[in-house]
Amino acid sequence: MIITKQKPFEVVLEELGDAKSVFLVGCGDCATLCETGGEDQVKEMGQKLESEGKKVAGSVVLEVGCHELDAKKQFRVQKDEIAEADVILVMSCGAGTQAARAVTDKPVFPANDTLFLGNILRYGNFEEKCSLCGDCILDETGAICPVTRCHKGILNGPCGGTDKGKCEVDPDKECGWTLIYQQLEKEGRVEAMKEYRPAKNWNAVLKPGNFVIPSRRKGGDEGE
Ligand code: SF4
Ligand code: SF4
Repeated sequence: MIITKQKPFEVVLEELGDAKSVFLVGCGDCATLCETGGEDQVKEMGQKLESEGKKVAGSVVLEVGCHELDAKKQFRVQKDEIAEADVILVMSCGAGTQAARAVTDKPVFPANDTLFLGNILRYGNFEEKCSLCGDCILDETGAICPVTRCHKGILNGPCGGTDKGKCEVDPDKECGWTLIYQQLEKEGRVEAMKEYRPAKNWNAVLKPGNFVIPSRRKGGDEGE
């Protein structure tokens, strides 16, 4: 899931500037789990804005904030409230904010900062384990990602700064390459540590990424 944190309220107020009325958009998926854009946070944001003299023209918590088609349908349903708003404030990830951007001409602002793709360790506790590089090498590294879990992202580690399994960049964190070594040792293929990995192909996914699942393609390789 996509991990977000709320911007400080003063920053949100600054973004909104002179806008007198605001339409709030939350996300029922990732931002709800991160407690940055669920029903409760949207309500709370509305109350805080009203206490600052802003009018809340309306609000919605979309089932999935980054689903542009759903956003379009819902914005149509609430078109009168949206028409009344000077601006749209989106409480989701940056993708959700841009979903709103795609379906309205009103000024759109983010209430959150978007941090990373996170695994859920337990409720409210997330950890980044994949950086979405588009050219996965987990088969070579015991299913532990060096791009993400080594703080330098090196492909031929460890770097020499590892100390008792911790990283020299941040001693509070595990050294990703020590984890890889330990895993490969358990699997009896520690020899894989000696294999040289050439520089990564960072062009595997050209920004902005675009992908259409094969069953939805009209023909050829479009969409990749
Ligand atoms: S190598 Fe790492 S960053 Fe790339 S796709 Fe695999 S897990 Fe994700
Ligand atoms: S100590 Fe380990 S995790 Fe930290 S930068 Fe070096 S190899 Fe990467």
